[in-house]
Amino acid sequence: MAATSRSASIRIALRKWLTANSPGKQPSDPQERHEALRAWQRQLWQAGWLGLGWPVEYGGHGGDPADQIAVYQELALAKAPLPAGLVGLDVIGPTIVEHGSDEQKQRFVRPLLAGDEIWCQAFSEPDAGSDLASLRTTAVLDGDALVVNGQKVWTSMAKHAHWCAVLARTDADAPRHKGISYLLTPMDAPGITVRPVLQINGASEFGEVFFDNVRIPGTR
Ligand SMILES: Cc1cc2nc3c(=O)[nH]c(=O)nc-3n(C[C@H](O)[C@H](O)[C@H](O)COP(=O)(O)OP(=O)(O)OC[C@H]3O[C@@H](n4cnc5c(N)ncnc54)[C@H](O)[C@@H]3O)c2cc1C
Repeated sequence: MAATSRSASIRIALRKWLTANSPGKQPSDPQERHEALRAWQRQLWQAGWLGLGWPVEYGGHGGDPADQIAVYQELALAKAPLPAGLVGLDVIGPTIVEHGSDEQKQRFVRPLLAGDEIWCQAFSEPDAGSDLASLRTTAVLDGDALVVNGQKVWTSMAKHAHWCAVLARTDADAPRHKGISYLLTPMDAPGITVRPVLQINGASEFGEVFFDNVRIPGTR
């Protein structure tokens, strides 16, 4: 089927599904809201509305990435909320699908799609924003592990995340735009501290994340 007609049939089917599966009003308490949006993500996933452009063998539907955009547009038109794990779905998942090893894809993609594992992305630092090559977080090989030290900021979803994609400098001698690695890091690793950033509206959607001799084993 051509991409445009497939996208049109996805839109029609999703509109029908949404009328029968309205998520209703979301709780105002941030933690309850997060859990409700995780449940919503699971419902969307089980109904086949997530991972549309990703390979079938890792839990996707083998379609075109534009199919997923059609789904997001229909959710917005229906004023339905977005799923809880958006950072994973839109940024980290596609990176793992494109660049991860087969083992990493088998391990991470399904739980990321289902909302069983929430991801955050720790790139920005207090002195490394637009100029990301200024980042100072380091990861040094020690035996079979990388040892991470440094501080991140503006990490969306940090307090909810089970996993984090961390950028850290692994080659101190490389030119500043090189020698940086993308580390898939469990947020419960000893030495990781999350400090929520309190926004002026009282919400706390971001966090500072501190890495104090955090060992990430089995890193290639
Ligand atoms: C809603 C939201 C969610 C975010 N979530 C995450 C996240 O999950 N993980 C994460 O790592 N980061 C996250 N960020 C941080 C975001 O990526 C940073 O805001 C970004 O890296 C910019 O960094 P900065 O705030 O230090 O601004 P700076 O880089 O210091 O920029 C400040 C200002 O200077 C301007 N500027 C910068 N360089 C130049 C230049 N060379 N020439 C001219 N002007 C320049 C910029 O345009 C900007 O106006 C999030 C930000 C927002 C707003």
